[in-house]
Amino acid sequence: MANRTGMNRRAVPVVWVGLGLCLAVCPAAAGPKADLLLEKYAAVAEKIRVAGLRDETAFRMLEELTAKAGPRLTGSPAAARAVDLTRTMMADMGLETWLEPIMVQNWARGVEEARVMGSGPAGQAEPLRITALGWSVPTADSGLTAPVVEVRSFEELEKLKTPVKGKIVFFNRRMDPALMDTFWAYGEAAQFRVRGAAEAAKAGAAAVLVRSATMRTDGYPHTGMVQYDPQVPRIPAAAVATADADRLSGRLRRGESLSVFLRLGCRNNPPVPSSNVVGQIRGAERPDEIILLGGHLDSWDLGTGAHDDGAGCVQAMEAARLIKDLGLKPARTIRVVLFMNEEFGSSGGRDYAAAARRKAEKHLAAMESDRGGFLPLGFGIGGPPAVFEKLKAWEPLLRPSGILWVRPGGGGSDIGPLAASGTIPMAFIPDAQKYFDVHHSALDVLNSVHPRELELGAVILAIMAYGLAEEGI
Ligand SMILES: [Zn+2]
Repeated sequence: MANRTGMNRRAVPVVWVGLGLCLAVCPAAAGPKADLLLEKYAAVAEKIRVAGLRDETAFRMLEELTAKAGPRLTGSPAAARAVDLTRTMMADMGLETWLEPIMVQNWARGVEEARVMGSGPAGQAEPLRITALGWSVPTADSGLTAPVVEVRSFEELEKLKTPVKGKIVFFNRRMDPALMDTFWAYGEAAQFRVRGAAEAAKAGAAAVLVRSATMRTDGYPHTGMVQYDPQVPRIPAAAVATADADRLSGRLRRGESLSVFLRLGCRNNPPVPSSNVVGQIRGAERPDEIILLGGHLDSWDLGTGAHDDGAGCVQAMEAARLIKDLGLKPARTIRVVLFMNEEFGSSGGRDYAAAARRKAEKHLAAMESDRGGFLPLGFGIGGPPAVFEKLKAWEPLLRPSGILWVRPGGGGSDIGPLAASGTIPMAFIPDAQKYFDVHHSALDVLNSVHPRELELGAVILAIMAYGLAEEGI
């Protein structure tokens, strides 16, 4: 203990000297452009942060969105309520608002039920906690019962000695906990959710169960979209909670041959009209040049989409509110776009970029927040390397609000189509260690969001949006 105390005594002054040096040296080290930006915008960046942290308005907006609209499945009445609600919220802030009509999918969840047959200690069925994947076709009304076969990869599926025709394929791939970047681990595991049904159907399977994409072991199934292959039959697809996936896997590995009963009542209904929601502060000098802030308004239906992507929507709205309430009059337009239909293939982002009125506009940059409302960590900037070099000069202005780094690479599914036509895509990157605990599950609700962490994301977006609206790119 004495030794540790001694180390701490030595460490404290070193830390403080380090911080002091950084304050004195970092801006100069970042180059003359960074110096100028810091001189010009440090005071306003601080005002934005102080106002944000004092008010925590982003969280109040999220409370309203999740309470009044609720789970906002694309094409649902709740998603329609969210359109009206967020437009009103932005109009009340004094933003110029409008709706851009689009058509969206209209998949509806129905009854969902699964059990391992005749398998409990007294021979009774053992329930499995499952949820249908978005776009899944239903089972017959009476459900289906079939032997279950576990695989951990597509290669394993291909090499199976026993045919899977008529069986349920159980993709039990874990998210790799050794990866620091949880999005990488998610990408690797989620391919079985996305493509599993199509691959299993090629081998003649009757249905698929997919291990939920989370590193937690618990009883909450995580949904998400399944993608069918038009060349093979569409088979029912459901996610199973990780605790139940482990239990099922354990028994299969002990050599039990098990059958699962699965019943899904989901329906793919015809597309319905919906909207992207837009609110903006018109630029005082160059109104046709736009800095876009966005998130997606639709969500999955198991929770209330508080992190995914209620957080991104309220952060974009809150950034605009902070700029407006501080009386700032940006030279270029700052536009908030709440995209619809991201979870069912991002058609809202594509339709926004393709709309006829875009021809008269020039989107300089687009920032998307769709990685949860957690503590800000970094900021990604896409586009050509020369643009990154230039925009990296903003880093010292973001640091006091918690951003640790600015790196090349940015964007997201909704702003991808704009980026394809030359807009610089950017992404605010929060700490995602906890994101997949709640993502697409019943745990994605308001109390999983922290008001200060959420607000700091809005602050970062407001500083970047205002700065770029003043300086251009
Ligand atoms: Zn999302």
